[in-house]
Amino acid sequence: MGLGSGQQSPSFMADFLHQAGGYAVIDGGLATELERHGADLNDPLWSAKCLLTSPHLIRSVHLDYLEAGADIIITASYQATIQGFEVKGFSKEESETMLRKSVEIACDARDLYKQNCSGSSCNSNRESKILKDRPILVAASVGSYGAYLADGSEYSGIYGDRITLEALKNFHRRRVQVLAESHPDIIAFETIPNKLEAQAYAEIMEEENINVPAWFCFNSKDGVNVVSGDSVLECASIAESCKKVVAVGINCTPPRFIHGLILSIKEVSAKPIVIYPNSGESYDADRKEWVQNTGVSDEDFVSYVNKWCEVGASLVGGCCRTTPNTIRAICQTLSPRAGSFPS
Ligand SMILES: [Zn+2]
Repeated sequence: MGLGSGQQSPSFMADFLHQAGGYAVIDGGLATELERHGADLNDPLWSAKCLLTSPHLIRSVHLDYLEAGADIIITASYQATIQGFEVKGFSKEESETMLRKSVEIACDARDLYKQNCSGSSCNSNRESKILKDRPILVAASVGSYGAYLADGSEYSGIYGDRITLEALKNFHRRRVQVLAESHPDIIAFETIPNKLEAQAYAEIMEEENINVPAWFCFNSKDGVNVVSGDSVLECASIAESCKKVVAVGINCTPPRFIHGLILSIKEVSAKPIVIYPNSGESYDADRKEWVQNTGVSDEDFVSYVNKWCEVGASLVGGCCRTTPNTIRAICQTLSPRAGSFPS
């Protein structure tokens, strides 16, 4: 993707952001779009289920986001865990193959997009699709232990006393290794609900000498703490002190909380700040569904974006319930700022 081989260098993210024009756009919700394309995600494996049943749908959604202008696409591995696949009767080898597949599918989508770019009159495209050759990163998603439990506990961050730092490291270690060996550009640790899990990720990155950089994203339901009640300052400090972490931020959190959280993160971290909120709708963990019409419109969502960038965000996208339309609107609002897209 044109950044050379210096993925381990501390300037990896700075170089990428420079090439992207100062600001980069991340993709939006995957599950929402898979369902719109007809996938049935009523399963503990959630969007990872499509790795088994319909990889072509995942590729289509990645492509939709690239065409909407995303510079970074996140793989369908959020809820893909070796332990989760094993419960479904797959062997360890088969489970690891599916993790690798999540990265392969995203890389395929990027290749296809690049082909489409070179095949069309890229920058003069008059259609709504943005077909512009640009550096594109594939981010391998790692969901939290709570995401594996599939009981909504990534939104509470309460794992109980039984779950120690070592238990979390043992849970995540092999998955992180397999994803790193699949050569994504970055590992996206997402929806981190407490500092214990952030510490587990930081230690795995160091101990296993993971040679792919990472970002750490936390989620919050009050704009002050992460969802478990741990201080966002303490959580962001863990990310700051890990050399392999090249960006830190917030995902899957209502837009109204983001501004204050960016200011908090900046108190303890000098790393680029990554923000991809949800639509603001609330999730009903018991019914395993989003409560309709409790969120903000794409216009409202986008009205926040410039403010977030003014206070320090440099990577912006969307999480649950956001769509290619949200991402297209983010691109348009950031384009004068980044100077990277023709108007
Ligand atoms: Zn989300």
